[in-house]
Amino acid sequence: MDAQRRTYLVLLGVPGAGKGTQARMLEETFHLPQISTGDIFRYNLKNQTELGLLAKSYMDRGDLVPDEVTIRMVEDRLQKADAVNGVILDGFPRNLVQASALDEMTADYGGITSAPLISLSDEDAILRITGRRVCRTCGAVYHVEFNPPKKSGVCDIDGGELYQRDDDKPETVRNRLYVYYKQTSPLIGYYFAKSLLTELDGAEPIDVVNEKLKQLVSQAISKKTN
Ligand code: ADP
Ligand code: ADP
Repeated sequence: MDAQRRTYLVLLGVPGAGKGTQARMLEETFHLPQISTGDIFRYNLKNQTELGLLAKSYMDRGDLVPDEVTIRMVEDRLQKADAVNGVILDGFPRNLVQASALDEMTADYGGITSAPLISLSDEDAILRITGRRVCRTCGAVYHVEFNPPKKSGVCDIDGGELYQRDDDKPETVRNRLYVYYKQTSPLIGYYFAKSLLTELDGAEPIDVVNEKLKQLVSQAISKKTN
């Protein structure tokens, strides 16, 4: 049984809270791949796949892509070889149906390890999202003011062009927050009831949030494996 235990981290928080930024940092610390459903949809959109075209209209509005499609996509991703020790989930689950599907997918491996909630006010979330810039090639995340690249518009890691996501424009951001409160925030109670939730102050600097997150994830991993 112990050999089968895997680490499944679920990062929760409003859009803009810092889930993607932190997931990428945790990936290096814990040697687990980050799975961002938003990144997978954007990759499919860029490559004009059927999945990308289906997701586009929902993403443009800031609505959730239908569960059936999203759940199947995560199920496939969890079966890839690099997920054998577990994964860091960023942006999934986003409602209770997805959360219970994830419980089923992970049941044989000890279930979810920890669900950190990165909290942030709506005002700060809007500032974060509207200033967010993403590398077109590697997906690294910057902020024009809070986390700028060394050279404006250019990725520090691979020199790729930084762009603003279509759904990061103010018109869409409001609906994304609405969708978060209506559909995703019930997950806070869901994971609290399973004693998996820990809240962190997402308004602190990136490195401070990261230190706290690393500590709590290390503790959760040792609790699960002991
Ligand atoms: P999410 O994945 O939760 O939507 P991101 O990780 O993409 O959030 O971060 C949203 C924006 O806020 C990005 O522009 C990122 O550079 C910036 N950011 C992330 N964490 C912090 C932080 N602790 N302080 C200031 N800015 C941050
Ligand atoms: P953010 O980092 O700002 O929270 P994401 O990149 O996670 O945004 O998501 C962008 C969009 O992709 C969402 O608004 C939604 O349309 C779609 N999406 C991402 N994850 C999911 C999911 N788990 N279920 C349904 N739709 C999703």
